[in-house]
Amino acid sequence: MQQPQRLQIGKGQISGYISIFLSILALVSIVCFVFPEKLTTPEFREIYTAQSMQLLLKVVIVASFIFALISLLLSKRVKWALIGSGISAAAVALGAFTVEGSAVQKSGWYFGLDWMLLDILLMTLIFIPIELFFPKNTGQTKFHSEWRTDLVYFVISHLFIQFFGIITQKPAIVFFGWIGLDQVHGWIQQLPFVVALLLAFFATDFFQYWAHRIFHNHVYLWRFHSVHHSTQHMDWLAGSRTHFIDIFFTRAMTFIPLYVLGFSHAVFNTYIIFIAVHAVLIHANTRINFGFLKYIITTPQYHHWHHCEDPKYYGKNFASIFPFIDKIFGTYYLPGNTWPEGTGVHESQYPKGFIRQTIYPFTKSPFDNNLKMEDRSNR
Ligand SMILES: [Zn+2]
Ligand SMILES: [Zn+2]
Repeated sequence: MQQPQRLQIGKGQISGYISIFLSILALVSIVCFVFPEKLTTPEFREIYTAQSMQLLLKVVIVASFIFALISLLLSKRVKWALIGSGISAAAVALGAFTVEGSAVQKSGWYFGLDWMLLDILLMTLIFIPIELFFPKNTGQTKFHSEWRTDLVYFVISHLFIQFFGIITQKPAIVFFGWIGLDQVHGWIQQLPFVVALLLAFFATDFFQYWAHRIFHNHVYLWRFHSVHHSTQHMDWLAGSRTHFIDIFFTRAMTFIPLYVLGFSHAVFNTYIIFIAVHAVLIHANTRINFGFLKYIITTPQYHHWHHCEDPKYYGKNFASIFPFIDKIFGTYYLPGNTWPEGTGVHESQYPKGFIRQTIYPFTKSPFDNNLKMEDRSNR
């Protein structure tokens, strides 16, 4: 296996990479201002203003130049600084400091490019320092052999936010839309905020638990979910590696209680923000000590055990928020402060790359004898 490329702190490499990363974000974001109908998300446009995004773009460009300078001073090598400041200069030349948001017409279809850029900026701000200063595997950095694959999953799942959103909400609307849920919604919405939020967490996690367990227990569905388990390098980006069928089914199941119970916007939005950060956290390469909290809410240690490569530990820790749900159904496993030796699937030649992994689950019949039942049935 290819050895992960190590990052050395204090050598100007990290600041160089940060400068390049920020400059690329700035350059790409300019097209969001030029084609807002097609490249920005209506739900997010209601939350942010064009002015706040213009300011953010300027901050990102200035930060990119500052990190380029730091890289130059620390490393005495011009390569990274030159690339970062070069791309940022191109962004400025293309109008990054003068570009303005225009009035937006409603569009039939769009890509969530704004969502992708904002989320990757936020996630890197949170998780790169955590993984750099409090890593679980000290030898592992973002630049392991398959980080590009995980990034492709991240990009696709964000760009196609409209497609994923519509499809995952459909089953709840089709099966429960006709019932007439106004009374239930009225009752839920008069609950205190914290109570409603905890109820949203519990109800969705209960549905998520069973959707997840079905994907493990059914041999054909496991082929789709095994994509998520195929990563050998657990880190903040690894959770993005999920087959689109897995995303549709699991999100559609978790959307059912949200739809039926009809939480307020405040509860719903808090839930979405929490899940967006927490789902990334539990995959992260960090051994930050969560103390007693690890018995109440799932942590990286908890979810890394779910990804354990050793078949002895298959079929544990399906819950994504509350460990007690696993306790109730007999699938809880959290041995002190120990971590799994390795993560990944127990087959040596798992397909690599986004396209191969997307096609792979469709390529064999569910009745194919070559499927190794013993590897999956107890997951
Ligand atoms: Zn799983
Ligand atoms: Zn996972």
